[in-house]
Amino acid sequence: MADKCIVIVGGVAGGMSFATRYRRLNQNDHIIIFEKGPYVSFANCGLPYYVSKEITDRSDLIVAEKEMLEQRFQLDIRVNHEVLSIDKENKLIKVLYDGEIETVAYDTLVLSPGAKPIKLNIEGMENIKGIFTLRNIPDVDRIVEYIEHENPQNAIVIGAGFIGLEMAENLKKRGLNVSVVEKASHVLPPFDEEMAMFAQKELLKNGLNVYTNTSIVKFMNNQAVLEDNTILDVDLVIMAVGVLPETALAVEAGLAVGMKNGIVVNDQYQTSDKNIYAVGDAIVVKHYITKEDTMIPLASPANRQGRQLADILSGLKVKSKGSLGTAIVRLFNLTFASCGLNERQLQGKKYEVVHLLGNDHAGYFPDATSIYLKVIFNPVTQQIYGAQALGEKGVDKRIDVIATAIKAGYPVSDLQELETAYAPPFNSAKDIVNMAGYVASNMIAGITRTVQWHEVEKLQEEGYVVVDVRSEKERRAGYIKDSINMPLDNLRCLMSKLDPQKKIIVYCRSSIRSYNAERILRNAGFDVYNLDGSFAYYKVVKEDRIVKDEM
Ligand code: FAD
Repeated sequence: MADKCIVIVGGVAGGMSFATRYRRLNQNDHIIIFEKGPYVSFANCGLPYYVSKEITDRSDLIVAEKEMLEQRFQLDIRVNHEVLSIDKENKLIKVLYDGEIETVAYDTLVLSPGAKPIKLNIEGMENIKGIFTLRNIPDVDRIVEYIEHENPQNAIVIGAGFIGLEMAENLKKRGLNVSVVEKASHVLPPFDEEMAMFAQKELLKNGLNVYTNTSIVKFMNNQAVLEDNTILDVDLVIMAVGVLPETALAVEAGLAVGMKNGIVVNDQYQTSDKNIYAVGDAIVVKHYITKEDTMIPLASPANRQGRQLADILSGLKVKSKGSLGTAIVRLFNLTFASCGLNERQLQGKKYEVVHLLGNDHAGYFPDATSIYLKVIFNPVTQQIYGAQALGEKGVDKRIDVIATAIKAGYPVSDLQELETAYAPPFNSAKDIVNMAGYVASNMIAGITRTVQWHEVEKLQEEGYVVVDVRSEKERRAGYIKDSINMPLDNLRCLMSKLDPQKKIIVYCRSSIRSYNAERILRNAGFDVYNLDGSFAYYKVVKEDRIVKDEM
């Protein structure tokens, strides 16, 4: 005889993590999992890579087979069963299977129904045969079948977030012409503009078309019309404009919901009904940094929450600490990763930014590649607010280290203290994360003062003099409009030409030489600022202000 009946709605990330952990801790309870799709425990995150056949074997999309889960964990798994309603007073649910509705009783109900893709309603879309969203294996089957049978040539991906760009990359690798249409001012909206511009360039470099600040107003005869009347040929559309929690069930049952109708839970994942719990993409979580409500539809939090809930329902002392939103995406040769808050989310708050350019491992060791790292922090409390990074290699490591530092509550100056494993093929003795700590500490101590890429033009208009301290050769390849050149190694001789009454901004390639220049000029009595991130960042985001000398 089972002790209790635990019923789970949704058999993937949060639901299955809960079920297997709960079984390991409780041998006697009856655990039923209702999953409306045909599969449980599948790899949503792997779906885009099956489109290009980078994941060649469809069966690899199943993380754990239903039969194995049933046998090993004594789970009662019912696929193709949709839970239609919850009667919380009587602790009953109604389930639809094969046209029949049955009523099932529960002692504890766990909701992990996930999130569903937002579907836009665009004029004329009924004329385009191949319009898809992507959430599960049947969705990816439909996309692959369409590609194989209809042989589409021109794809449009609407939405340039993580899933959109993964689909764009994989459709391109599949041989289609791909255009990305994004309503925001830049691709990868979770990143700040200057970081996202690297993603935009990577897309263009790989032959994709990118349209930002716009959307599709209508479709007509295998063509899409953008707001500025640009016309794109199209025979396959992927809508990847975000997700909404799949919470109609919870709303109809009268459970408390919050932002975007996400299910409100306490730090024990308990909903407004004491017998119903919820985890995963469908719940409102506390942001780890702001402590405010947010929604973070990612796999790692969903898995963690499922496991934590199993612990809680098994009597262990565990509580939700909130989510940080650490995320990563590969785009052709580059990786983009971020954690915590970006500048847009920090508007109205006091924060400082440091941009760095470094190497994934010692520069003198073969095959070193560049890493761009941005860290945002509170200059008073030293709290690290967030980080964003990109590069060919080692990006995941840096963001994971900073995400860990944030969760450990390290002040930004303690990034200096991190002792990461070092040997030339792996790292630098001063890793770029340590460097972020050095620079932030210098900023906090007033040893360096910085300006940001977006401030330069305005400051120049106010009379600041911009001094390029790179070599003449580097400068010839491009420099900031209206800047003057004083190479660092000649600066002590040349600085007498600078007007001591004027404020000065110095820059080089990566901010290291310009930091030395800043110190030389400061010690000589000048009022001087270092351009944070220097030319490496400025040239990407302010292309229109880069001057190249005629040869
Ligand atoms: P899900 O895993 O979506 O599971 C919910 C399940 O509940 C669904 O299978 C659904 O059919 C079922 N269900 C819903 N309502 C009912 C009902 N009434 N009755 C029965 N069953 C129901 N996250 C990352 O962190 N990194 C990635 O790289 C990444 N890539 C992704 C790529 C794609 C294409 C997609 C779609 C998502 C990706 N995610 C990624 C997000 C990640 O998959 C989700 O955050 C995670 O799966 C959420 O887990 P969950 O248990 O809340 O919901």
